[in-house]
Amino acid sequence: MSNPDLGTTLEQEQLEQIDQGDHERYSHYVKKDKIVESAVMGGAVIALCGKVWVPNRDPGKFPVCPDCQKIYETLKGD
Ligand SMILES: [Zn+2]
Repeated sequence: MSNPDLGTTLEQEQLEQIDQGDHERYSHYVKKDKIVESAVMGGAVIALCGKVWVPNRDPGKFPVCPDCQKIYETLKGD
C-alpha cells in the first residue's frame, strides 16, 4: 500500500519472483524492469510489499511472500 511504484499496470510477464536472502525465506514479486535495472546498475530491487534488497540468488527456492502475493492478486484481479 505504501509502494509508489504500484501506479503502473502490472502484468504477470512484468513480474518475477526472487529469493530475498536469508532473513525471511520468502520469494517476493518484483517488477521485471526493476530486476533489469538491478542487473545493470548492481543496486537493490523493491518488491511489491516494499521489501528492498539486492538479489543474488536464483528464484523459486522459497514460498512466495504472503504480502507480495496479496498485493499481486489485488492488482491482477482489479
Ligand atoms: Zn514480499
